[in-house]
Amino acid sequence: MKYLIVANWKMNPQTMAEAERLFISVKNGIKNIKNVEVVICPPFVYLSALLNPKSYILNPKIGAQDSFWENPPTGGGAFTGEVSPKMLRNVGCRYVIIGHSERRRYLNETDEMVNKKLKAALKNDLKPVLCIENISQVKKGLKGILKEGLKNMVIAYEPVFAIGTGKPCSPEKAEKMRKAIKSAINTDIPILYGGSVNSQNAGDYIEKAKFQGLLVGGASLNPQEFLRIVQNID
Ligand code: PEP
Repeated sequence: MKYLIVANWKMNPQTMAEAERLFISVKNGIKNIKNVEVVICPPFVYLSALLNPKSYILNPKIGAQDSFWENPPTGGGAFTGEVSPKMLRNVGCRYVIIGHSERRRYLNETDEMVNKKLKAALKNDLKPVLCIENISQVKKGLKGILKEGLKNMVIAYEPVFAIGTGKPCSPEKAEKMRKAIKSAINTDIPILYGGSVNSQNAGDYIEKAKFQGLLVGGASLNPQEFLRIVQNID
């Protein structure tokens, strides 16, 4: 089994040139990595450029940071400002982050919206990375999603107090949540830890807390630091 490391660039960087530099540094740095699948999730505006030429698609894989819940037969519709899962799949995205705590907090995303987004993403062959901080969000987010769908998903435990604060969750507490998530879903899918991960603490979440991977925010914007995390896990 490969470990999974997902980089969430959030609303960064500010220019295409910087995005390309960051992407190329990571791409070159993971050439000899054997045991980790790396997924980069840049802002929407950089997706097509980073997915082109198509040889870039496989390593690292590319994901989006969100996608819309409406899934009309054509994929499109009158939803100003939104991006459909079909569009993302058609440009070559494999993954999509759904229900990040920043969207729940600043954009009032509810469990019901998250649930609809997950279903639409799954229908369009995207692998959703569902972000949660408690078991209620797991249960409500996954409502009506059958085992078949669940098998194509990833869950990331992201305690809000640890996101972007430099105050990571202890591996002991994180492990308890990992076990609780596992027993709530009763399916063997990757469960990631996210929240102030850096190259010093990354290994603890894998070795001590037995997560199958990491969701990395701030540290993924520094290619040297991000590559250290990937190398440590590899
Ligand atoms: C995140 O945004 O998902 C995240 C984990 O951020 P950070 O690593 O900066 O805490």
